[in-house]
Amino acid sequence: AKARGRNNFQFYAPSMTGEGLERLRIETMLRRSIEKGEIFLHYQPQVEIDSGRLIGVEALVRWQNPELGLVPPARFIPLAEDTGFISQLGEWVLEQACTQMVRWQEAGFVVPKLAVNLSVRQFERGSIAAMVAGVLHESGLEPARLQLEVTESVIMNTGDALQFINDLHEVGVGLAIDDFGTGYSSLAYLKQLPVQTLKIDRSFIKDISTDANDEAIAVAIIQLGKSLNLSVIAEGVETAEQAAFLLRHGCNRAQGYYYSKPASAQELLARWGRRDER
Ligand code: C2E
Ligand code: CA
Ligand code: CA
Ligand code: CA
Repeated sequence: AKARGRNNFQFYAPSMTGEGLERLRIETMLRRSIEKGEIFLHYQPQVEIDSGRLIGVEALVRWQNPELGLVPPARFIPLAEDTGFISQLGEWVLEQACTQMVRWQEAGFVVPKLAVNLSVRQFERGSIAAMVAGVLHESGLEPARLQLEVTESVIMNTGDALQFINDLHEVGVGLAIDDFGTGYSSLAYLKQLPVQTLKIDRSFIKDISTDANDEAIAVAIIQLGKSLNLSVIAEGVETAEQAAFLLRHGCNRAQGYYYSKPASAQELLARWGRRDER
């Protein structure tokens, strides 16, 4: 390769840098993370704003590695997507979360709905609906209690997105568009897809009471949801003011630190498990 000239050398250089080796090392650790028991889930409550009632939880994956510490999903999900490990990881997450729903129920704690994130790479594998149906069957969770979250980019960048999503719909699970408003979206797809929920991205919620543009966007998404008969949930709700704003504008569902940070299955049971008995 060297014989082909100086410029070519640069092509090989990145793999020899410390950065390239470090990435390889992390990839290798990530691939073994499940078998080593380093992957676990946290769950974040979704609530009805006016009543404070728990309407669901979102499963969020965590990786605790002895060398790297707690690695945020924003760092390892892209890596898992690049290496293809995401299909194994995604199935593991779904299995764990569905099984947890059944365990809570056995403990007398009925969580109405479970939301699980799907990556675009999981759609490329093709048999996503069969995988989901299999996990539901094994865990015993009713399909209607599962809601899968996909981003707009999944829908816009996946060749057969419409087919995949219709297949999932036939399995009986719900579908939510995550981070709604941040992707480059053609609103036309909303009419074609069996989607039930829009999640307003937290970037619009953050400055909702001080930034007129964010306020306008949030209100527009709520209105859009109303007109299309979709349920709308706001993410990243951190203050009482934000919750009050949403309620005032017709959005009665929220998720965010104001209600709870993502927490372990046990913490969730302890903090939310007895509330309905009042
Ligand atoms: P996301 O799906 O948009 O998940 C919401 C993220 O916002 C979570 O970050 C959550 O901890 C955080 N969050 C919730 N409430 C608040 C709030 O009030 N304020 C702020 N500032 N943040 C809040 P997390 O757990 O770090 O996850 C980041 C992203 O990683 C997720 O964004 C999702 O895209 C991805 N992810 C997490 N778990 C999975 C998974 O199992 N599979 C896939 N494919 N992606 C996942
Ligand atoms: Ca999500
Ligand atoms: Ca399995
Ligand atoms: Ca989101």
